[in-house]
Amino acid sequence: MPIYEYKCNVCGHEFEELVFSSSAENPKCPECKSPETEKLLSSFSSGASFSDPVPSAPPSGGCGSSGFS
Ligand SMILES: [Zn+2]
Repeated sequence: MPIYEYKCNVCGHEFEELVFSSSAENPKCPECKSPETEKLLSSFSSGASFSDPVPSAPPSGGCGSSGFS
């Protein structure tokens, strides 16, 4: 679900709003009911992309099939 963060330009209140349509207008501030709100950048769609070089090759060796008694 697309959750966007908004900040009120009047009272500075920050709030989250579920937005189902990207063309929707900015929601009103729940604190002062002002439509003067701006959309903040979502913090979980950008950034925090840690691309560590993970060794994806499996360790070479037998996988327990050598112990045949
Ligand atoms: Zn406000």
